[in-house]
Amino acid sequence: MAEHIHTKVLIVGGGPGGYVAAIRCGQLGLDTMLVEGDRLGGTCLIRGCIPSKAIIHVAGHFETMMAAAEEGGRHGISLASPPKVDLAETVTWKETVVDKLNGGVTALLKRAKVRVVAGWATFSDGKSCTVKTKDGEVAITGEKVILATGSLPVELPFLKFGGSVISSTEALSLSALPKKLVVVGAGYIGLELGIAFRKLGVAVEVVEAMDRILPQYDAQLVAPVAKWLEKHGVVVHLKTKAEGLTEDGKALRIGGADGAKSELPGDKFLVTVGRKARTAGFGLETMSVDMAGPFVKIDDQCRTSMKDVFAIGDLVGEPMLAHKAMAQGAMVAEIIAGQRRRFDPASVAAIVFSEPEIVVAGMLPDEAKAAGMEADVAVFPFAANGRALTLEAGEGGGFVRVVSRGDGGAILGIQAVGRQVAELAGEFAHALAMGAVLDDLAHTIHVHPTLGEAIGEAALLGLGYGLHV
Ligand code: FAD
Ligand code: FAD
Repeated sequence: MAEHIHTKVLIVGGGPGGYVAAIRCGQLGLDTMLVEGDRLGGTCLIRGCIPSKAIIHVAGHFETMMAAAEEGGRHGISLASPPKVDLAETVTWKETVVDKLNGGVTALLKRAKVRVVAGWATFSDGKSCTVKTKDGEVAITGEKVILATGSLPVELPFLKFGGSVISSTEALSLSALPKKLVVVGAGYIGLELGIAFRKLGVAVEVVEAMDRILPQYDAQLVAPVAKWLEKHGVVVHLKTKAEGLTEDGKALRIGGADGAKSELPGDKFLVTVGRKARTAGFGLETMSVDMAGPFVKIDDQCRTSMKDVFAIGDLVGEPMLAHKAMAQGAMVAEIIAGQRRRFDPASVAAIVFSEPEIVVAGMLPDEAKAAGMEADVAVFPFAANGRALTLEAGEGGGFVRVVSRGDGGAILGIQAVGRQVAELAGEFAHALAMGAVLDDLAHTIHVHPTLGEAIGEAALLGLGYGLHV
């Protein structure tokens, strides 16, 4: 007979959504159990955000050293011979970062007195699941249930994962660099990884079905990234679909919108055509929760259609981002503890860690227009920002762009593209959360010399004058 445990809160999935929900439940004195079948930290910590940023960091170092090894060196620094990269060692270092954070999550859960059960949960009804652990089967019933089972990479039926066809998970743990990498899908994951591998010296080609890279953003915002790709010899095939591997498995068959067919040889084929919610394999069907397309349907408190069953994170849809999952997790814990909360953020900012980086918060100009708003758009180029010049952050045409209401100057959105702009995301999100107007941004004294000065300058332009352009 399986051991049967009752708990106040049962959380399934220990990614950013589930583990944050568990910590907050514990802090609020709720008896909480968290079930995780793989490693605590989920996609983000184990095979997503953190590992990718570690590899991107190393790739940046390597690229800088390569430039110093070229004839004449760079900025007065030269290397007598080109650097070498041992990817297996890079991956080992990345694993130490992952292990440290995984240990940190374990410690935080322990401190919050959360009981963690290691194993895969299968639900038999809305409130009860069984978990096969290494010590035997456990049955758990929760008064409240939080589903946080996350997402998986989308697999193309004609390009199944295995062998030379890899997902982001395998790409982040390769033991050696491929000579030639073909990336299918120019979304943020494909571009972040494709650019990192290019910096590491790999020949990279990208295939994208739409008419531009990062198709969810406008052409102005992605232009500097497109320029970088061109300058660094990354061939991008737009309006082109991957159709499968050739019979010998050594090339990708592609088809253009005009019907033209060709083949792209490669050693590895990285498929990054999106992520899908993990809705199968754990008895979701026994719970009769309503769906919203491929995602679990929720209201603004993350409640599903089934009483006392909540769902958060990638499982409930876009934007599939770690910080959204965390915010929903903390909120649901507080709702269960009796607080009045609603998930209605002013924005969920997003960063593409490409070269250069892109930050998006709030509405893009086209989105404001589509929503019928009279929007003003002000753009301040990094070419006119001192700090950007010292960081070479404006190369290829980087900028900060502020979208504001024509009447009153309420900020609708802020975007940036440029080297190292990722850290500006906090100020963008803060401005939107505080309901800032152009005056607020323009008259905040931004520290000199920083990239943040470009935010104040863009806001000044929105008010009708700039000081440094
Ligand atoms: P997940 O992190 O997917 O966690 C779900 C967990 O549930 C998993 O650990 C899984 O093992 C467990 N689980 C599922 N079913 C069961 C079951 N039945 N029993 C027990 N356990 C179960 N987001 C960002 O915000 N910034 C980034 O820079 C970023 N970079 C990314 C890079 C890559 C390469 C990838 C793949 C993703 C990236 N993301 C990024 C997205 C981010 O990883 C996800 O949005 C985030 O992990 C979602 O959190 P979650 O808690 O909803 O689900
Ligand atoms: P996607 O970004 O979905 O990109 C996949 C690309 O593959 C697409 O461009 C598609 O056209 C292409 N493709 C598909 N099939 C083929 C084929 N056979 N051949 C060639 N190309 C193909 N979600 C939103 O809804 N709105 C947002 O604004 C948004 N912004 C985000 C910003 C960031 C920084 C991050 C981290 C996520 C964002 N998301 C957004 C969520 C994101 O769309 C999902 O997490 C997505 O699933 C990311 O995975 P991806 O990069 O693999 O795929």
